[in-house]
Amino acid sequence: YQRIVLAARPQGEVTPEHFRLETVPVPELAAGQLLVRNHYLSLDPYMRGRMNDARSYAAPQPLGETMIGGTVGEVVASRHPSFAEGDFVAAMGGWAELAVSDGTGLRKLDTAAVPLSAYLGAVGMPGMTAWYGLNRILETAPGQTVCVSAASGAVGSAVGQLAKLRGCRVVGIAGGPEKCGYVVDELGFDACVDYRAGNLRADLKAAAPDGIDGIFENVGGEVFDAALARTNPFARVALCGMIAGYDGADIPMRNVRLLLANRITLSGFIVTEHLDCWPAGLAELGALVATGQLKYRESVAQGLASAPQAFIGLLKGRNFGKQLVKLM
Ligand code: NDP
Repeated sequence: YQRIVLAARPQGEVTPEHFRLETVPVPELAAGQLLVRNHYLSLDPYMRGRMNDARSYAAPQPLGETMIGGTVGEVVASRHPSFAEGDFVAAMGGWAELAVSDGTGLRKLDTAAVPLSAYLGAVGMPGMTAWYGLNRILETAPGQTVCVSAASGAVGSAVGQLAKLRGCRVVGIAGGPEKCGYVVDELGFDACVDYRAGNLRADLKAAAPDGIDGIFENVGGEVFDAALARTNPFARVALCGMIAGYDGADIPMRNVRLLLANRITLSGFIVTEHLDCWPAGLAELGALVATGQLKYRESVAQGLASAPQAFIGLLKGRNFGKQLVKLM
């Protein structure tokens, strides 16, 4: 079967040469193991951080080993008592067509009302990220204004819709008129500002006339700075991601003093450190998707070999919604 390993660590931008496609033999299953055929691979911004050999909240991706990644797939052979052939599971199967598992961390999936791929997006880690940041950090009250960056993406799209369900005014920030149009027309945000249009501060002022009470930050740099400039006193910030800086570029900010002047509470968080919340959160997200109250969009690359280019595209904002790779 085929897999993709990390071939070299990037300095700055990621290129296809940092990855290597390999063909490896299908392993024999030991007692207690199962074999999963991966149907979809999730590509996520955090993978960029793992490619560095730096101290962080998670250990670096080892060179020469299968790239880390969330997957959904079907059990095709099992010597494990709790899993049978034909079960659908979410796993950390990596950038590979097949994965052997001992069952640790595997989640059985019900695909009757929620499509398999959604378990990597709205009903998976990105959805939980939105749920946690909104419900446990922002705790915004009805009528308050929430601003979310990377608004059309996997996390941002869920943040805005969940905040609308809580009765908030929701302002998105996204790149380009197509993404902004989708966010307002399809997802029901109150407004969406195109940061590429060149009037970010003025446009955000118009979109959030009463100021901003909660920032769900996915990007960092100028975009975060513009949102900070519109904060009301005692605003809260859920610092979720700073994708603008993941390639190592500086992301300067001018409005840091507003953290003080506006007595802002800012909290960074890593969703995988809050697994206790996942069962309740995923149940809510699954019900919302099944009833059409939580919408999502996917960018699907075809075949494992397309994963490096799709990942590079994700880091440049070429994805439109949750970036997936369809493996079969
Ligand atoms: P998205 O689907 O939102 O894709 C990334 C998007 O970021 C792009 O489409 C692009 O949208 C936007 N973007 C804005 N500025 C830049 C820039 N300078 N360079 C590249 N892209 C940019 O990804 P996710 O929803 O999966 O993740 C969103 C954020 O959430 C990321 O920062 C990620 O690291 C973080 N995250 C954090 C977690 C946590 O536990 N803290 C867990 C999961 C995700 P546009 O074209 O609109 O600019």
